[in-house]
Amino acid sequence: MMDNGCPDMLYLPQKGTCHALPWAGCGKYKVGEVLTDVHSLDRRYADFSTRHAAMRQLRTLKEMGYEVLSAYELEYYIMKKDESGSYVSLYDKDEYESAFLWTKYEKFMYEIESNLFGAGINIEHMHTEYAGGQFEMTVPPETGVNSADTAILYKNGIKEILGLHEGYLATFMSKPIAKKAGSGCHFNHSLWKDGKPAFYDETKEHGLSDLARYFLAGQLKHARALTAFLAPTYNCYRRIVCPFAAPNIANWGIDSRECYVRVKIGSSTGPYLENRLGGAVANPYLVMASILAAGIDGVRHKMELPEQKAQGPDVIRMPKSLEEALKALEEDNDLKEILGKGLVENYIRTKRGVEVKMFNSDVGQESAEDIEKER
Ligand code: GLU
Ligand code: MG
Ligand code: MG
Repeated sequence: MMDNGCPDMLYLPQKGTCHALPWAGCGKYKVGEVLTDVHSLDRRYADFSTRHAAMRQLRTLKEMGYEVLSAYELEYYIMKKDESGSYVSLYDKDEYESAFLWTKYEKFMYEIESNLFGAGINIEHMHTEYAGGQFEMTVPPETGVNSADTAILYKNGIKEILGLHEGYLATFMSKPIAKKAGSGCHFNHSLWKDGKPAFYDETKEHGLSDLARYFLAGQLKHARALTAFLAPTYNCYRRIVCPFAAPNIANWGIDSRECYVRVKIGSSTGPYLENRLGGAVANPYLVMASILAAGIDGVRHKMELPEQKAQGPDVIRMPKSLEEALKALEEDNDLKEILGKGLVENYIRTKRGVEVKMFNSDVGQESAEDIEKER
């Protein structure tokens, strides 16, 4: 939401983003897609461009001498219409990593995989997630903003492909079904210098370099403000308030799915950090921009890393609502400064001006008593 009367803007195609969309088009007509980004009429990137926000953080890291390698893990549910016309999970029984579910839904899975492949996404691994009807397909890490572009294509592609089947849909909503696992957008990342993994130092505990520790410490310190971007809708708080392997305190642990940041060591490409706070619905560019900005602050201030799996009264708790997260973001001047005040203020204004207002004025929430009183 702009505060300058919403003038006309230009959408300009972005280099290196052209690819085929094999599932679109009809007959002899083939369809492709190019990503565009929003600019003012004098061709400057708009303050509120989220892709550009990610590129700004990547540029800052480049100036510090680092390249970013990252990959998103995005979970989703496939739903089908039942006899009453409501969408329910494709499969009710929870079976994590089940081969049986694969054979049952192979048709969808093959269709998704082959179509995404045709669009340039090479699915590395697919599995059934904790909840029946919930799936995940992982992709190889990419440098720079490419991984976020892939995440956008992956989400849109899967939704569009399922949309071709009458009575079915795919959803990246963070908590579509109460009492079942939510869907996450885990952000796996590492920094590289001169082609070498900069998070690795064989002389340090767990092989984690000082750089990795600072980068991680920054994400712990700014966790509450980051929530505004990583859990951007009301529904997201249902995922992190009552978590199934989703974090509600800002801690870290070596290969721990119970932590906010899971630190992976022993990989052939060096250690990497998996920030697990994001709900699948989050904007991948804002996920990248905000996590990198928090890491950059950690590096600049050589932030001290709290002990692993820290608990207790001093531990940082995630906000319990979107309003609380927006307030935490508003108060986090350091993160705001690094991300750019224009972007952050616009984001807060949009969220408060549209979503918070709409949610608070939703008549669906009124209790019978309120209605009685107002009659
Ligand atoms: N579904 C969990 C989440 O909401 C993550 C499960 C996993 O570790 O893959 O983040
Ligand atoms: Mg998963
Ligand atoms: Mg993961």
